[in-house]
Amino acid sequence: MITMEMKKSIKNPRDRLQKLLEAKGVRPSFQRLRILEILAGTASHPTVDDIYQELVDEIPTLSRTTVYNTLNLLVEKKLVLALSMSEAGMRYDFNTIPHTHFFCNSCSRVIDIETELPESLLQESVDGHKIHDTHIYLNGICKYCLAHSETA
Ligand SMILES: [Zn+2]
Ligand SMILES: [Zn+2]
Repeated sequence: MITMEMKKSIKNPRDRLQKLLEAKGVRPSFQRLRILEILAGTASHPTVDDIYQELVDEIPTLSRTTVYNTLNLLVEKKLVLALSMSEAGMRYDFNTIPHTHFFCNSCSRVIDIETELPESLLQESVDGHKIHDTHIYLNGICKYCLAHSETA
């Protein structure tokens, strides 16, 4: 059986990620590759700390600062999106195509919502202002927490 996680890693094998880094002029060090690989393999929108915790056993010399600096570099090179959500802190996303996010106030999950963004927000400019990024962010209680509270 092929799980979702496996599908994602098949879609984004390490050599493909290495090429992505090289195409942006970023030296594909092992740490950078592993950080990008974690982001490419999850839809959980991890924090700096989540990524640090996932890698620290494998790379004991890793620091949170290195993870943070690497993420900033990946964001700057537009390989990764940084989502600033006041309650959740900064979360990172490998999917750089504009999409809607749902933030759960109860469990802090950040979930991708499969809805088309309004055409009016996907233009180059609006009302004379040049648009760089479009983020739509909803918040409330996720379906997992709702189901949990119903059975409790
Ligand atoms: Zn929740
Ligand atoms: Zn997302």
